[in-house]
Amino acid sequence: MNKDLEQNTIVTNYEFSSGILVLESSKGGSIKVKLNGFDLSKLTPDGYEIYLSDSGSECKHKEGRIEVSSKELKNPSFLLTLLHEVGHSAKDEKVDLDRDKEISRELKELSRKNSEKDVLRYIGVLEEYTRLVEKRERQAWLSSIKSLKTVLLESGHDVRKNFANFEEFFSKIIRHYKSYLLGMKYVFEKSGKGTDKQWHDFEAYVDQIFNPHIPILEDEARVFWETELPK
Ligand SMILES: [Zn+2]
Repeated sequence: MNKDLEQNTIVTNYEFSSGILVLESSKGGSIKVKLNGFDLSKLTPDGYEIYLSDSGSECKHKEGRIEVSSKELKNPSFLLTLLHEVGHSAKDEKVDLDRDKEISRELKELSRKNSEKDVLRYIGVLEEYTRLVEKRERQAWLSSIKSLKTVLLESGHDVRKNFANFEEFFSKIIRHYKSYLLGMKYVFEKSGKGTDKQWHDFEAYVDQIFNPHIPILEDEARVFWETELPK
């Protein structure tokens, strides 16, 4: 790693598995992430900027910005999670985000009420939230797997080299995707609401929303995995 100070721009080079990752940052401003010269910011929608953050250990996205954790930079999976967050920046996600805020408010309000009717509403809202989260995570993963192919062809950086085989690569994606499935069950469990039957029905519902999409993700991942580099 070396640092150059040049006209207010800090350039940091990282050796990154099969390539050199270059971060160009201006003081307090956004950064450009270049992999073997290919500017990854080209994959973000207009108006989105990438920032470097010292807090947290994962990449995050907030309205209009993607935050890259400096701790994650050396992780071979960094590119995977960065592109996942880029996938979240897609415009059609914004509509859902408004509903998302309403849902959080409704859940908070309903969490204080325990009549039978309110518990049913709580479960209904949580089910809607499950559908929303599943769709969002699936789309972000599909988009990030497609971007991996673009990055491979444009930069020559081959993320596949970080994994022993397809199964290892795909299980990494599924672990992230399924963490939301478990998250939904956790939210319900923590609320202490519902009968045993309602809990088991909800558990089955969450599985039914997430599991059918795993083959869709697997197909997309396999298309990427089998990409041949031009000779
Ligand atoms: Zn996500």
